Amino acid sequence: MSGVVELADVTKAYPGGVAALRGVTLSVGYGELVAIVGPSGSGKSTMLHLIGTLDRPSAGTVRIDGHDVATLSDRQLSALRARRIGFVFQQFHLAPGQPVLDNVADGLLYAGVPVKERRHRAEAALARVGLGHRLGHLPNELSGGERQRVAVARAVVGEPALLLADEPTGNLDSASGAGVMALLRDLHAAGTTVVVITHDKDIAAGLPRRIAMRDGAVV
Ligand code: ADP
Repeated sequence: MSGVVELADVTKAYPGGVAALRGVTLSVGYGELVAIVGPSGSGKSTMLHLIGTLDRPSAGTVRIDGHDVATLSDRQLSALRARRIGFVFQQFHLAPGQPVLDNVADGLLYAGVPVKERRHRAEAALARVGLGHRLGHLPNELSGGERQRVAVARAVVGEPALLLADEPTGNLDSASGAGVMALLRDLHAAGTTVVVITHDKDIAAGLPRRIAMRDGAVV
């Protein structure tokens, strides 16, 4: 069986001629927990954007959960993203005026789930990340580590095939960061596929597989 992520000879050039990726071939299997590591400017975010179907390659093939993104319309790509990929970012990206429960329920907004069911599943996802007692709190009433756990709950509430985390501990103190990484490991142990971008060598060292990037290539 092919992996959830299959990149073949992928290149990405930005306008102005910057070659951010120079022929990347890579496979991530279902159920893996992988770190993408490398110095700033090595192409990690570009790769995450391509894997997350937020952008298309200049050349080469990107296949996500069995779909060659080149064959999908923008609308089909949005549907694939909404249903099969969960995102966690360094900056949390929670809606500030909304209670935690609604923030997580919104993770199902584009998956065609009725509102009552959305809230029910959001409650379960928050319990899973250890925040079942914070449903009515606003994001600014939580610590950074708790906010990131809310963001993880939102990312996994739809049970995506793939969880993509871009520097998820970048804004956290080391204890909170370790808590978020422990949560990602728990999700992985329960079957979720997780790809984490990090420039933190200690975090990467604790993960079962590392993909190292340099100058737009896997080394
Ligand atoms: P990393 O995430 O490892 O820091 P990036 O993927 O952000 O690396 O960047 C790889 C290269 O592509 C860098 O040289 C960066 O300056 C360039 N780059 C990234 N995004 C853009 C963009 N939107 N336009 C032009 N160049 C970009």
